Amino acid sequence: MNRPLVAILSGAGVSTDSGIPDYRGPKGLWRKDPEAEKLVTYEYYMADPEIRRRSWLMRRESGALGAEPNTAHRAVAELERSGVPVRVLTQNVDGLHQLAGMPDRKVLELHGTARTVECTRCHARTPMDDALARVDDGEDDPACLTCGGILKPATVMFGEHLDPVVLGQAADIAKACQIFIAVGTSLQVHPAAGLAGVAADHGARLVIVNAEPTPYDERADEVLREPIGTALPELLRRLHTTNP
Ligand code: ZN
Repeated sequence: MNRPLVAILSGAGVSTDSGIPDYRGPKGLWRKDPEAEKLVTYEYYMADPEIRRRSWLMRRESGALGAEPNTAHRAVAELERSGVPVRVLTQNVDGLHQLAGMPDRKVLELHGTARTVECTRCHARTPMDDALARVDDGEDDPACLTCGGILKPATVMFGEHLDPVVLGQAADIAKACQIFIAVGTSLQVHPAAGLAGVAADHGARLVIVNAEPTPYDERADEVLREPIGTALPELLRRLHTTNP
């Protein structure tokens, strides 16, 4: 029996119920505050130790790593556990889909992860927690312990490109899926937003769950404006029962 592949593109709106604000969307906090945006802009970050010092402090104080998955994350993980093939393509860097129980290999993090830091010279990857512990111990700008290079979060900063390998895998999923659900994303930031169009072009049923209108609403088979915390679990439960 062939079960339809469900692709879920998740944006900042999925994590706001976990207390994580929209930082990087078109109306996100960083875009509204040029000084804050510098902290997550590659060119400034690499050029200026003071920007890095403030960036580490911001990460330590944000508390984002302590956030818990919410009902939307859990509903996605439950759909996967029910036996429906699910892939998550997420614009979020918080790792909450995995914490809710989605297997790592079924989650593509389009903008990387804030739970890991990466050396900009030797590309060694280590836990963010370890770097933040060094900041707690008084280091302004913890350097790579392997090569001394500048460390940065393993996220895609402004001024950086998305990983072409990850993006290619995401496009393959968008082409292959039968149902594409865009949830909590304004679908305004490309190339991630374009995945909805790719899916629709390849015959997927397109469902959009977002409080605000998106540029893809007219192409969608279904648009839900209700709060994600109720709309997404209801929508996904329907998929459990219609695919026994
Ligand atoms: Zn290094």
